[in-house]
Amino acid sequence: MTYGSARRPNRVAVIGVGIIGAGVGWNLSLQGADVVFIDAGLPGEGVTNWSFSWVNASNKTVRRSYFDLNVAGMATYRELAAAIGPDSWWYPNGHLRWADDPAAEAKFLKTAELLAGWDYRVEVCTGAEVRRRFEPALTLPDDVPVLFYPDEAWVHGRHLVSRLVGLAVASGAELRTGAAVRDIVVRPGGRPETVALSDGSRLGVDAVVNAAGPHASHVAELVARRLPMRREAGVVARLTCGQRAPVHRALHAPHIEIRPDGAGSVVLHSREIDALIDTGQDPAELAQMLRDSARHVVPELGNARIAQTRVSNRPIPADGFPSVGALPSVPGYYEAVSHSGITLGPVIGRLLAAEILSGKRDEMLADFRPERFSP
Ligand SMILES: Cc1cc2nc3c(=O)[nH]c(=O)nc-3n(C[C@H](O)[C@H](O)[C@H](O)COP(=O)(O)OP(=O)(O)OC[C@H]3O[C@@H](n4cnc5c(N)ncnc54)[C@H](O)[C@@H]3O)c2cc1C
Repeated sequence: MTYGSARRPNRVAVIGVGIIGAGVGWNLSLQGADVVFIDAGLPGEGVTNWSFSWVNASNKTVRRSYFDLNVAGMATYRELAAAIGPDSWWYPNGHLRWADDPAAEAKFLKTAELLAGWDYRVEVCTGAEVRRRFEPALTLPDDVPVLFYPDEAWVHGRHLVSRLVGLAVASGAELRTGAAVRDIVVRPGGRPETVALSDGSRLGVDAVVNAAGPHASHVAELVARRLPMRREAGVVARLTCGQRAPVHRALHAPHIEIRPDGAGSVVLHSREIDALIDTGQDPAELAQMLRDSARHVVPELGNARIAQTRVSNRPIPADGFPSVGALPSVPGYYEAVSHSGITLGPVIGRLLAAEILSGKRDEMLADFRPERFSP
Protein backbone atom coordinates (compact mmCIF):
# COMPACT_ATOMS: atom_id res chain seq x y z
CA MET A 1 0.00 0.00 0.00
CA THR A 2 1.28 3.54 -0.72
CA TYR A 3 0.02 6.77 0.78
CA GLY A 4 -1.19 9.95 -0.94
CA SER A 5 1.62 12.47 -1.38
CA ALA A 6 4.50 9.97 -1.17
CA ARG A 7 7.65 10.94 -3.05
CA ARG A 8 11.30 10.29 -2.38
CA PRO A 9 12.55 13.16 -0.20
CA ASN A 10 15.71 15.08 -1.16
CA ARG A 11 17.01 15.69 2.35
CA VAL A 12 15.91 14.00 5.58
CA ALA A 13 16.54 15.40 9.07
CA VAL A 14 16.75 12.65 11.69
CA ILE A 15 15.87 14.39 14.97
CA GLY A 16 17.43 12.47 17.87
CA VAL A 17 20.41 10.14 17.53
CA GLY A 18 19.76 7.29 19.92
CA ILE A 19 19.52 3.68 18.80
CA ILE A 20 16.36 4.41 16.82
CA GLY A 21 17.52 7.57 14.99
CA ALA A 22 20.88 5.94 14.25
CA GLY A 23 19.11 2.89 12.80
CA VAL A 24 16.84 4.99 10.57
CA GLY A 25 19.62 7.36 9.42
CA TRP A 26 22.12 4.58 8.68
CA ASN A 27 19.56 2.67 6.59
CA LEU A 28 18.61 5.85 4.71
CA SER A 29 22.19 6.73 3.93
CA LEU A 30 22.94 3.13 2.89
CA GLN A 31 20.30 3.62 0.20
CA GLY A 32 21.80 6.87 -1.03
CA ALA A 33 19.57 9.36 0.80
CA ASP A 34 20.90 12.74 1.93
CA VAL A 35 20.69 12.61 5.75
CA VAL A 36 21.37 15.13 8.49
CA PHE A 37 21.45 13.72 12.03
CA ILE A 38 20.59 16.29 14.72
CA ASP A 39 20.97 15.71 18.44
CA ALA A 40 20.46 18.05 21.38
CA GLY A 41 23.29 16.23 23.17
CA LEU A 42 25.65 13.53 21.90
CA PRO A 43 24.78 10.44 19.82
CA GLY A 44 23.82 7.44 21.94
CA GLU A 45 23.92 9.31 25.24
CA GLY A 46 20.16 9.53 25.78
CA VAL A 47 18.13 6.67 27.27
CA THR A 48 19.99 4.29 24.90
CA ASN A 49 22.99 4.61 27.23
CA TRP A 50 20.85 4.02 30.35
CA SER A 51 18.98 0.91 29.33
CA PHE A 52 19.15 -2.68 30.48
CA SER A 53 19.73 -3.29 26.76
CA TRP A 54 18.36 -6.81 26.59
CA VAL A 55 17.43 -7.93 23.06
CA ASN A 56 14.44 -10.23 23.37
CA ALA A 57 10.92 -11.20 22.39
CA SER A 58 10.22 -13.46 25.39
CA ASN A 59 8.91 -10.47 27.36
CA LYS A 60 6.66 -9.31 24.50
CA THR A 61 3.87 -11.89 24.44
CA VAL A 62 1.13 -9.35 25.17
CA ARG A 63 0.14 -9.18 21.47
CA ARG A 64 1.18 -11.55 18.68
CA SER A 65 2.04 -8.76 16.20
CA TYR A 66 4.26 -7.11 18.83
CA PHE A 67 6.00 -10.40 19.53
CA ASP A 68 6.55 -10.91 15.78
CA LEU A 69 8.03 -7.42 15.44
CA ASN A 70 10.47 -8.16 18.30
CA VAL A 71 11.44 -11.49 16.73
CA ALA A 72 12.15 -9.54 13.52
CA GLY A 73 14.20 -7.15 15.69
CA MET A 74 16.36 -10.06 16.91
CA ALA A 75 16.86 -11.34 13.34
CA THR A 76 17.78 -7.85 12.14
CA TYR A 77 20.51 -7.70 14.80
CA ARG A 78 22.06 -10.91 13.51
CA GLU A 79 22.02 -9.50 9.97
CA LEU A 80 23.50 -6.21 11.18
CA ALA A 81 26.33 -7.96 13.03
CA ALA A 82 27.11 -9.93 9.87
CA ALA A 83 27.00 -6.76 7.74
CA ILE A 84 29.08 -4.34 9.85
CA GLY A 85 30.87 -6.68 12.27
CA PRO A 86 30.02 -7.22 15.96
CA ASP A 87 32.85 -5.01 17.32
CA SER A 88 32.27 -4.04 20.93
CA TRP A 89 28.48 -3.72 20.64
CA TRP A 90 26.96 -7.20 20.05
CA TYR A 91 26.79 -9.92 22.76
CA PRO A 92 24.58 -12.81 21.59
CA ASN A 93 25.04 -15.04 24.67
CA GLY A 94 21.43 -15.79 25.55
CA HIS A 95 19.46 -14.86 28.63
CA LEU A 96 18.62 -16.57 31.96
CA ARG A 97 15.54 -16.09 34.09
CA TRP A 98 14.38 -17.70 37.35
CA ALA A 99 12.12 -16.88 40.30
CA ASP A 100 12.08 -17.38 44.06
CA ASP A 101 8.34 -17.77 44.60
CA PRO A 102 5.99 -20.43 43.25
CA ALA A 103 3.49 -18.03 41.62
CA ALA A 104 6.18 -16.19 39.60
CA GLU A 105 7.85 -19.49 38.72
CA ALA A 106 4.57 -20.96 37.44
CA LYS A 107 4.03 -17.80 35.32
CA PHE A 108 7.51 -17.99 33.75
CA LEU A 109 7.11 -21.69 32.96
CA LYS A 110 3.70 -21.04 31.37
CA THR A 111 5.19 -18.26 29.21
CA ALA A 112 8.02 -20.58 28.18
CA GLU A 113 5.46 -23.16 27.08
CA LEU A 114 3.60 -20.55 25.04
CA LEU A 115 6.85 -19.37 23.44
CA ALA A 116 7.95 -22.89 22.58
CA GLY A 117 4.57 -23.26 20.81
CA TRP A 118 5.45 -20.14 18.80
CA ASP A 119 8.79 -21.76 17.76
CA TYR A 120 10.81 -19.51 20.06
CA ARG A 121 13.82 -21.39 21.43
CA VAL A 122 13.84 -21.92 25.20
CA GLU A 123 15.44 -24.54 27.46
CA VAL A 124 14.48 -25.32 31.06
CA CYS A 125 17.64 -26.01 33.12
CA THR A 126 18.31 -26.43 36.83
CA GLY A 127 20.29 -24.00 38.97
CA ALA A 128 23.15 -26.52 39.27
CA GLU A 129 23.29 -26.92 35.50
CA VAL A 130 23.32 -23.15 34.98
CA ARG A 131 26.35 -22.80 37.31
CA ARG A 132 28.13 -25.64 35.51
CA ARG A 133 27.34 -24.63 31.91
CA PHE A 134 26.97 -20.86 31.95
CA GLU A 135 27.52 -18.77 35.07
CA PRO A 136 29.82 -20.24 37.77
CA ALA A 137 29.65 -17.09 39.95
CA LEU A 138 25.88 -17.31 40.60
CA THR A 139 24.29 -18.20 43.91
CA LEU A 140 21.00 -19.97 43.23
CA PRO A 141 19.36 -23.18 44.50
CA ASP A 142 20.60 -26.36 42.73
CA ASP A 143 17.11 -27.51 41.84
CA VAL A 144 15.40 -24.23 40.87
CA PRO A 145 14.06 -24.27 37.29
CA VAL A 146 15.87 -21.68 35.14
CA LEU A 147 14.78 -20.62 31.67
CA PHE A 148 17.58 -20.23 29.13
CA TYR A 149 16.72 -18.30 25.96
CA PRO A 150 19.69 -19.02 23.66
CA ASP A 151 18.78 -16.54 20.89
CA GLU A 152 18.56 -13.49 23.14
CA ALA A 153 21.39 -11.03 23.61
CA TRP A 154 22.49 -7.74 25.06
CA VAL A 155 23.79 -4.76 23.14
CA HIS A 156 26.14 -1.91 24.00
CA GLY A 157 23.78 0.76 22.68
CA ARG A 158 26.16 3.73 22.73
CA HIS A 159 28.86 1.81 20.84
CA LEU A 160 26.35 0.65 18.20
CA VAL A 161 25.04 4.19 17.70
CA SER A 162 28.56 5.49 17.27
CA ARG A 163 29.32 2.75 14.72
CA LEU A 164 26.18 3.37 12.63
CA VAL A 165 26.54 7.15 12.67
CA GLY A 166 30.26 6.84 11.80
CA LEU A 167 29.41 4.66 8.79
CA ALA A 168 26.67 7.03 7.64
CA VAL A 169 28.92 10.09 8.00
CA ALA A 170 31.66 8.31 6.04
CA SER A 171 29.18 7.91 3.20
CA GLY A 172 28.13 11.57 3.23
CA ALA A 173 25.62 12.11 6.07
CA GLU A 174 25.94 15.27 8.18
CA LEU A 175 25.98 15.20 12.00
CA ARG A 176 24.92 18.16 14.16
CA THR A 177 25.40 17.66 17.91
CA GLY A 178 24.67 19.86 20.92
CA ALA A 179 21.85 21.57 19.01
CA ALA A 180 18.18 20.90 19.73
CA VAL A 181 15.50 21.24 17.06
CA ARG A 182 13.35 24.19 18.21
CA ASP A 183 11.12 24.71 15.19
CA ILE A 184 9.99 22.95 12.02
CA VAL A 185 8.80 25.34 9.32
CA VAL A 186 6.38 23.79 6.84
CA ARG A 187 5.48 24.93 3.32
CA PRO A 188 1.92 25.73 2.33
CA GLY A 189 0.50 22.26 1.77
CA GLY A 190 2.34 20.87 4.76
CA ARG A 191 5.78 19.45 3.87
CA PRO A 192 8.73 20.52 6.05
CA GLU A 193 10.92 23.24 4.56
CA THR A 194 13.45 24.08 7.29
CA VAL A 195 14.33 23.00 10.82
CA ALA A 196 15.57 25.67 13.21
CA LEU A 197 18.19 24.64 15.79
CA SER A 198 18.98 26.02 19.24
CA ASP A 199 22.39 27.22 17.98
CA GLY A 200 20.59 29.66 15.67
CA SER A 201 21.18 27.70 12.43
CA ARG A 202 18.46 26.68 9.99
CA LEU A 203 18.67 23.64 7.73
CA GLY A 204 16.71 23.10 4.54
CA VAL A 205 15.04 19.65 4.54
CA ASP A 206 11.93 18.13 3.02
CA ALA A 207 11.32 15.30 5.47
CA VAL A 208 11.84 14.88 9.23
CA VAL A 209 12.03 11.77 11.39
CA ASN A 210 10.99 12.25 14.99
CA ALA A 211 13.32 9.89 16.88
CA ALA A 212 13.64 12.08 19.96
CA GLY A 213 12.97 9.23 22.44
CA PRO A 214 11.40 10.47 25.69
CA HIS A 215 11.17 14.00 24.18
CA ALA A 216 9.28 12.87 21.07
CA SER A 217 5.98 14.50 22.05
CA HIS A 218 7.73 17.93 22.14
CA VAL A 219 9.11 17.42 18.63
CA ALA A 220 5.66 16.25 17.47
CA GLU A 221 4.15 19.51 18.75
CA LEU A 222 6.39 21.41 16.31
CA VAL A 223 4.22 20.07 13.46
CA ALA A 224 1.03 20.52 15.52
CA ARG A 225 0.85 16.79 16.16
CA ARG A 226 -0.23 15.38 19.53
CA LEU A 227 1.67 12.23 20.49
CA PRO A 228 0.46 11.08 23.92
CA MET A 229 3.19 9.37 25.95
CA ARG A 230 3.42 7.65 29.32
CA ARG A 231 5.75 8.76 32.05
CA GLU A 232 7.58 5.67 33.32
CA ALA A 233 11.00 6.27 34.79
CA GLY A 234 13.70 3.64 35.31
CA VAL A 235 16.95 3.70 37.28
CA VAL A 236 20.12 1.99 36.12
CA ALA A 237 23.46 1.68 37.93
CA ARG A 238 26.86 0.83 36.43
CA LEU A 239 29.30 -0.93 38.74
CA THR A 240 33.00 -1.47 38.21
CA CYS A 241 34.27 -4.81 39.43
CA GLY A 242 37.95 -5.44 38.65
CA GLN A 243 39.38 -6.95 35.47
CA ARG A 244 36.33 -8.86 34.27
CA ALA A 245 32.58 -8.94 34.81
CA PRO A 246 31.48 -11.91 36.98
CA VAL A 247 28.50 -12.61 34.66
CA HIS A 248 28.52 -13.35 30.92
CA ARG A 249 24.99 -12.63 29.78
CA ALA A 250 21.78 -10.77 30.70
CA LEU A 251 20.04 -12.32 33.74
CA HIS A 252 16.62 -11.79 35.29
CA ALA A 253 17.21 -13.09 38.82
CA PRO A 254 14.61 -12.66 41.58
CA HIS A 255 14.31 -8.89 42.35
CA ILE A 256 17.28 -7.85 40.18
CA GLU A 257 18.45 -7.75 36.54
CA ILE A 258 22.18 -8.00 35.90
CA ARG A 259 24.20 -7.89 32.69
CA PRO A 260 27.83 -7.33 31.78
CA ASP A 261 28.73 -3.96 30.29
CA GLY A 262 32.08 -4.80 28.73
CA ALA A 263 35.23 -5.79 30.62
CA GLY A 264 35.12 -5.12 34.36
CA SER A 265 31.70 -3.51 34.46
CA VAL A 266 28.10 -4.59 35.04
CA VAL A 267 24.73 -2.86 34.72
CA LEU A 268 21.95 -3.35 37.30
CA HIS A 269 18.23 -2.64 37.03
CA SER A 270 15.09 -3.67 38.88
CA ARG A 271 11.41 -2.88 38.27
CA GLU A 272 10.93 -3.08 42.06
CA ILE A 273 13.47 -0.29 42.61
CA ASP A 274 11.99 1.75 39.70
CA ALA A 275 8.76 1.81 41.72
CA LEU A 276 10.59 3.86 44.41
CA ILE A 277 11.72 6.65 42.03
CA ASP A 278 8.63 8.77 42.58
CA THR A 279 8.91 8.50 46.37
CA GLY A 280 11.72 11.07 46.17
CA GLN A 281 14.46 8.66 47.27
CA ASP A 282 17.98 9.78 46.32
CA PRO A 283 19.24 7.94 43.17
CA ALA A 284 22.49 7.16 45.04
CA GLU A 285 20.43 5.23 47.62
CA LEU A 286 18.53 3.45 44.86
CA ALA A 287 21.87 2.37 43.36
CA GLN A 288 22.94 0.94 46.71
CA MET A 289 19.67 -0.98 46.90
CA LEU A 290 20.37 -2.38 43.43
CA ARG A 291 23.84 -3.49 44.53
CA ASP A 292 22.42 -5.06 47.72
CA SER A 293 19.96 -7.12 45.66
CA ALA A 294 22.67 -8.10 43.17
CA ARG A 295 25.03 -9.35 45.88
CA HIS A 296 22.49 -12.04 46.89
CA VAL A 297 22.84 -13.49 43.39
CA VAL A 298 26.48 -12.66 42.59
CA PRO A 299 28.27 -12.28 45.95
CA GLU A 300 31.36 -10.61 44.47
CA LEU A 301 29.23 -7.66 43.35
CA GLY A 302 28.92 -6.73 47.05
CA ASN A 303 32.42 -5.19 46.75
CA ALA A 304 31.91 -3.55 43.36
CA ARG A 305 32.04 0.25 43.13
CA ILE A 306 28.96 2.14 41.95
CA ALA A 307 30.42 4.22 39.13
CA GLN A 308 27.34 5.83 37.54
CA THR A 309 23.61 6.01 38.26
CA ARG A 310 20.92 7.53 36.07
CA VAL A 311 17.16 7.89 36.22
CA SER A 312 15.64 8.14 32.70
CA ASN A 313 12.17 8.20 31.24
CA ARG A 314 11.17 5.39 28.94
CA PRO A 315 9.94 6.56 25.52
CA ILE A 316 6.50 4.91 25.63
CA PRO A 317 3.54 5.97 23.49
CA ALA A 318 0.36 6.03 25.60
CA ASP A 319 -0.92 2.55 24.68
CA GLY A 320 2.49 0.96 25.32
CA PHE A 321 3.21 0.09 21.67
CA PRO A 322 5.62 1.68 19.15
CA SER A 323 4.56 4.60 16.98
CA VAL A 324 6.35 4.16 13.66
CA GLY A 325 5.81 5.49 10.17
CA ALA A 326 4.39 8.34 8.13
CA LEU A 327 1.52 10.43 9.36
CA PRO A 328 -0.61 10.93 6.23
CA SER A 329 -2.06 14.21 7.59
CA VAL A 330 1.46 15.75 7.89
CA PRO A 331 3.36 14.90 4.69
CA GLY A 332 7.11 14.55 5.17
CA TYR A 333 6.80 13.91 8.95
CA TYR A 334 7.70 10.42 10.20
CA GLU A 335 7.61 9.03 13.73
CA ALA A 336 9.96 6.44 15.25
CA VAL A 337 9.19 6.23 18.95
CA SER A 338 9.25 3.04 20.99
CA HIS A 339 9.89 1.39 24.27
CA SER A 340 11.96 -1.80 23.82
CA GLY A 341 13.83 0.45 21.45
CA ILE A 342 17.05 -1.48 21.98
CA THR A 343 15.43 -4.66 20.62
CA LEU A 344 13.54 -2.76 17.93
CA GLY A 345 15.98 0.00 16.83
CA PRO A 346 17.56 -1.84 13.88
CA VAL A 347 14.30 -3.30 12.54
CA ILE A 348 12.46 0.02 12.91
CA GLY A 349 15.42 1.61 11.11
CA ARG A 350 15.17 -0.83 8.22
CA LEU A 351 11.38 -0.70 7.84
CA LEU A 352 11.02 3.06 8.23
CA ALA A 353 13.88 3.92 5.85
CA ALA A 354 12.26 1.70 3.19
CA GLU A 355 8.91 3.42 3.77
CA ILE A 356 10.41 6.92 3.55
CA LEU A 357 12.19 6.14 0.29
CA SER A 358 9.50 4.08 -1.43
CA GLY A 359 6.26 5.39 0.09
CA LYS A 360 5.17 1.77 0.64
CA ARG A 361 3.82 0.78 4.05
CA ASP A 362 5.04 -2.51 5.52
CA GLU A 363 2.37 -4.82 6.96
CA MET A 364 4.66 -5.61 9.91
CA LEU A 365 3.99 -2.07 11.22
CA ALA A 366 0.21 -2.20 10.66
CA ASP A 367 -0.62 -2.29 14.41
CA PHE A 368 1.90 0.43 15.28
CA ARG A 369 0.93 3.30 13.01
CA PRO A 370 1.12 6.92 14.30
CA GLU A 371 -2.37 7.79 13.05
CA ARG A 372 -3.97 5.65 15.77
CA PHE A 373 -3.34 8.65 18.08
CA SER A 374 -4.81 11.20 15.67
CA PRO A 375 -8.04 12.82 16.79
C1 LIG B 1 15.62 1.44 32.82
C2 LIG B 1 15.37 1.07 31.39
C3 LIG B 1 15.57 -0.23 30.95
C4 LIG B 1 15.34 -0.57 29.62
N1 LIG B 1 15.59 -1.84 29.22
C5 LIG B 1 15.40 -2.18 27.93
C6 LIG B 1 15.74 -3.50 27.50
O1 LIG B 1 16.23 -4.32 28.28
N2 LIG B 1 15.53 -3.81 26.20
C7 LIG B 1 15.00 -2.91 25.31
O2 LIG B 1 14.81 -3.28 24.13
N3 LIG B 1 14.70 -1.65 25.69
C8 LIG B 1 14.88 -1.27 26.98
N4 LIG B 1 14.60 0.00 27.38
C9 LIG B 1 14.05 0.95 26.40
C10 LIG B 1 15.14 1.47 25.48
O3 LIG B 1 16.29 1.84 26.21
C11 LIG B 1 14.62 2.66 24.68
O4 LIG B 1 13.40 2.30 24.05
C12 LIG B 1 15.61 3.11 23.60
O5 LIG B 1 16.89 3.33 24.13
C13 LIG B 1 15.08 4.38 22.96
O6 LIG B 1 16.02 4.86 22.05
P1 LIG B 1 15.75 6.23 21.33
O7 LIG B 1 16.74 6.35 20.24
O8 LIG B 1 14.30 6.35 20.98
O9 LIG B 1 15.95 7.35 22.49
P2 LIG B 1 17.28 8.06 23.02
O10 LIG B 1 18.40 7.12 23.16
O11 LIG B 1 16.88 8.82 24.26
O12 LIG B 1 17.65 9.06 21.87
C14 LIG B 1 16.87 10.22 21.64
C15 LIG B 1 17.82 11.35 21.33
O13 LIG B 1 17.03 12.49 20.98
C16 LIG B 1 17.72 13.65 21.37
N5 LIG B 1 16.73 14.74 21.40
C17 LIG B 1 15.66 14.89 22.20
N6 LIG B 1 14.99 16.03 21.88
C18 LIG B 1 15.66 16.58 20.84
C19 LIG B 1 15.46 17.77 20.04
N7 LIG B 1 14.43 18.61 20.25
N8 LIG B 1 16.35 18.04 19.07
C20 LIG B 1 17.41 17.21 18.82
N9 LIG B 1 17.64 16.07 19.54
C21 LIG B 1 16.76 15.77 20.53
C22 LIG B 1 18.31 13.28 22.73
O14 LIG B 1 19.42 14.10 23.03
C23 LIG B 1 18.66 11.80 22.53
O15 LIG B 1 20.04 11.63 22.20
C24 LIG B 1 14.85 0.40 28.70
C25 LIG B 1 14.67 1.72 29.13
C26 LIG B 1 14.94 2.06 30.45
C27 LIG B 1 14.77 3.49 30.91
